[in-house]
Amino acid sequence: MLQLKDPGLLRQQAYLNGEWVDADNGATLAVTNPATGAQIGTVPLMGAAETRRAIDAANAAWPAWRKMTAKERAAILRKWNDLILENTDDLALLMTAEQGKPLAESRGEVAYGASFIEWFGEEAKRVAGETLASPWPDRRILVTREPIGVCAAITPWNFPIAMITRKAGPALAAGCPMVLKPAEATPYCALALAVLAERAGVPAGVFSVVTGAAKEIGGEMTANPIVRKLTFTGSTAIGKLLMEQSAASIKKLSLELGGNAPFIVFDDADLDAAVEGAIASKYRNSGQTCVCANRIYVQDGVYEAFAQKLVAAVNKLKVGNGVEEGVTQGPLIDEKAVQKIEQHVADALAKGGRLLLGGQRHALGHSFFQPTVIADVNAEMLVAKEETFGPLAPLFSFSTDQEALALANNTEFGLASYFYSRDVGRIWRVAEGLESGMVGVNTGLISNEVAPFGGVKQSGLGREGSHLGIDEFLVIKYICLGGI
Ligand code: ADP
Repeated sequence: MLQLKDPGLLRQQAYLNGEWVDADNGATLAVTNPATGAQIGTVPLMGAAETRRAIDAANAAWPAWRKMTAKERAAILRKWNDLILENTDDLALLMTAEQGKPLAESRGEVAYGASFIEWFGEEAKRVAGETLASPWPDRRILVTREPIGVCAAITPWNFPIAMITRKAGPALAAGCPMVLKPAEATPYCALALAVLAERAGVPAGVFSVVTGAAKEIGGEMTANPIVRKLTFTGSTAIGKLLMEQSAASIKKLSLELGGNAPFIVFDDADLDAAVEGAIASKYRNSGQTCVCANRIYVQDGVYEAFAQKLVAAVNKLKVGNGVEEGVTQGPLIDEKAVQKIEQHVADALAKGGRLLLGGQRHALGHSFFQPTVIADVNAEMLVAKEETFGPLAPLFSFSTDQEALALANNTEFGLASYFYSRDVGRIWRVAEGLESGMVGVNTGLISNEVAPFGGVKQSGLGREGSHLGIDEFLVIKYICLGGI
């Protein structure tokens, strides 16, 4: 068992309508530590019936929650934020245990995750309407923004806290209740968030966490007409499925799906800065983020120099159990993830790629993989087309700006992109030419609560974070006031 300062944060029951409960049939799902393979514990394996009850409870809790003033809801969210931060040590330990990322990254995610609760509590107070100039002398035109209603959220395992708070923060702030299904691999962070929500005074039914079978829970969330909004972060394939399933009841959707981020290094770039950015963007969370650099394009003139510097930097990364001091690369989430990177490496090498570093499972076993760099990669290889979601940096070369843009945009995805240059004209041209929702210029890290996060093309719909993020949970009402 994990040694938490507050053992009450590790819950092996789901949280429905303010109560800690087991699955109706008593079934459970094991949760394991990817660094050791050891079982941490279990959570209830719930399905459609429990989900329906959580949705009904959310609907019952909605009127009182929306009726509160924004300031009252903000006070509860502030308390939730504070409790999350106060429990950083325990939450980070839980995260590293179930997800694998190094403790320092887990601690960073706790702060990042809390920031969405704080930010949206503040934003709740700034939800405003409009009065428009009327074309009629005796009528006035008012526009109000109201909470959409019961929201469902489905979240992935790569950011077990932040992907939840980025959804629950704006939903609750807007006056909507939320039913959450966390990823099967990382339910303990979600349940710990529920403990802290309860302590912060979030009323029963306003935030429920249903653990268990993705298909059954997701099926109920999408079929149930009470749910007015579904917010999802995960793969494009499942996003499409959820969109299809939501069509029958015309739900509002936010979809944060896969990426295939290009990372372009131009001849005029500060190479050391570009290497630092590439390490941050590519190897954070062992390459398991949807905004990780997936394709690294380097201009001819600096190709070999960049490759050498990158290999030297990647060589310094330390692979190991995330709880150990100095470790920067934890395990991948599971065996399937290891098989995908193995497939990408084998495919690239078979088609002429040059292995500069790594390329194999790590001696530590389990789902550890060596940080890998492959040069001479081309557009025919799997790494060019699919998200690797692992610690593999593939290096492509290009000669002109136009070629770089064409290569970068040659994907159905459009989440993040990055490039390094010091020429202001080129910076504008390339930033405007990239088909992605987010562009990092001379930086490999772009996410924060103040900025709008989201994609174009098949990377998704909607934006999370920023002042725009709360709109996803609001609907517009036009009131025509006559008889004046
Ligand atoms: P990843 O590759 O990140 O695991 P997924 O899209 O498979 O991406 O998973 C993201 C989330 O979607 C997880 O919470 C997972 O349980 C959930 N999920 C997977 N399949 C379904 C489904 N058929 N219906 C609803 N949710 C699903």
